[in-house]
Amino acid sequence: MKVIDTITASKPTLSFEVFPPKTDDKFESVSRAVGEIATLAPDYMSVTYGAGGGTSEYTARIAADLLQKGVVSLAHLTCVSSTRERVFEQLEKLRALGIENILALRGDIPEGLDRTKLSYHYAYELIAEIRDFGGFCIGGACYPECHPESENSAKDIEYLKIKVENGCEFLTTQMFFDNSILYNFLYRLLRAGVDVPVVAGVMPVTNAVQIKRIASISGTPLPQKFLRIVDRYGSNPEALKQAGIAFATEQIIDLYANGINAVHVYSMNNPSVAGKIKENLKGIV
Ligand code: FAD
Repeated sequence: MKVIDTITASKPTLSFEVFPPKTDDKFESVSRAVGEIATLAPDYMSVTYGAGGGTSEYTARIAADLLQKGVVSLAHLTCVSSTRERVFEQLEKLRALGIENILALRGDIPEGLDRTKLSYHYAYELIAEIRDFGGFCIGGACYPECHPESENSAKDIEYLKIKVENGCEFLTTQMFFDNSILYNFLYRLLRAGVDVPVVAGVMPVTNAVQIKRIASISGTPLPQKFLRIVDRYGSNPEALKQAGIAFATEQIIDLYANGINAVHVYSMNNPSVAGKIKENLKGIV
């Protein structure tokens, strides 16, 4: 089944992102966690692609296992550290495994990479190739708070339009913690003529490591409301987890209430967090 058909159906959808292991010895434990999340009957699950493509084998394997479990799977694929041959190999493999959905990304540019020797510079080039290859529903990434490398948000949106013109059928957002940022972004997308469905990416922040990581990398500020939770419960892991789940649940309900039909939860391979969110949304999705 194609993700585009799922997210454009009338009922609201809830999906989860998982990531593959970095090494073989972690495959079993990741696979178990992914299996547990799959039992929550999400509308689909996405499997990330390790930076630089190092874990590409595992992405395809986990996405294929999900299909076997009856879950619609969306395999991520990055291009900037890859070659055309390698991308075609991946597309052949995904097709052979019966995977019908790809989230097509540029990937972060590794430090020291010679940009003049790249096969791909932007995600739209990969998107166009996947479209020409045929048979896949293609998604892309978008950034309500602007991609960190962008000159400005107007340019960022202009480039999103190029992705859509090249075959991107839906967009999934980077995490954000203040829904008004998404609503404002959606308004600007529509004004720019970018009219594909947008899936809202929500990250339940449930531990101190995640908080540090978000603060250091993403240019995605945590709102005051959440920072107060961190001040109060930062040294109590159980309380922080509970508060993080409650915050994400409230954020998701507000999204649905404001007409956002598709929410994708960055599960961080944590079945207990994913399960609690699903339970909190019982009767809603
Ligand atoms: P692009 O769309 O190519 O954009 C990259 C930058 O180039 C932006 O600043 C954009 O404004 C600019 N740009 C785009 N097109 C043009 C153009 N035509 N001309 C000039 N400038 C242009 N990374 C992974 O390694 N693996 C994953 O599995 C993964 N999954 C992700 C899932 C989601 C939902 C999101 C939001 C991100 C994910 N990422 C992943 C991170 C992503 O690879 C990085 O954010 C990367 O830096 C940009 O990828 P992109 O596909 O958005 O790139």
